[in-house]
Amino acid sequence: FKKDKKGVIEFKNVSFRYPDAEEDILTDISFTANAGETTAFIGSTGSGKSTLINLIPRFFDVTKGEILVDGVNIKDVTQHDLREKIGYVPQKGILFSGTIDSNLRYGKKEATEGDINKAARIAQATEFIESKPEKYETEISQGGTNVSGGQKQRLSIARAIAKDPEIYIFDDSFSALDFKTDAKLRKSLKEEISESTVLIVAQRISTILNAEQIIVLDEGKMVGKGTHKEL
Ligand code: ATP
Repeated sequence: FKKDKKGVIEFKNVSFRYPDAEEDILTDISFTANAGETTAFIGSTGSGKSTLINLIPRFFDVTKGEILVDGVNIKDVTQHDLREKIGYVPQKGILFSGTIDSNLRYGKKEATEGDINKAARIAQATEFIESKPEKYETEISQGGTNVSGGQKQRLSIARAIAKDPEIYIFDDSFSALDFKTDAKLRKSLKEEISESTVLIVAQRISTILNAEQIIVLDEGKMVGKGTHKEL
């Protein structure tokens, strides 16, 4: 994958309140997520982790402060251009009806067969894809009911990798994986997408042990920042 990647993300005094809500969900958040590094977000349920990362693809706009990507305010970029830089993997993974191949190709139609195979390999999805009689041509049923939660997550991760983005956002995307698969996946991500900016929301501490930066949220405030050792 390309070596000229950037994708540095800067939060500058970001506060956020959902439309029509009475209170801010995020208060005065500032940090930088560097390219080539993993930034992980932890905190109890409802602390605002998903809300925070959802501001980056502009699912919502900040209420105060600004978010910059490579020095440019994301409000000054078209949503299309912004989202093209981002591989976003939601908690449950999302599959569309169609084949596994078309699902993996969704973010980048021109991906080659080699790109698709490589993405599946990095996402630890090759084995179960190859075990299906139709392999990459296996049809995913409506809503993806013929694949398990963990397989769905891995296919969603493979789709993000096939897109070859500058920024990866994994919102608790490893939760349905067993520990061994989770560990293998993180190892291959570390090796294969090492130039990108990686943001991970995680519940399991093991998932984020090796992150270059861990940000701890509590009730929408940043209460800690550092490596696992420092914290
Ligand atoms: P979890 O670990 O359970 O996923 P989280 O740390 O990711 O939690 P968020 O999902 O960001 O937390 O939620 C933070 C707060 O924002 C919660 O109080 C939640 O009820 C509220 N919230 C989330 N989404 C919306 C929305 N679309 N509209 C209004 N409030 C919302």
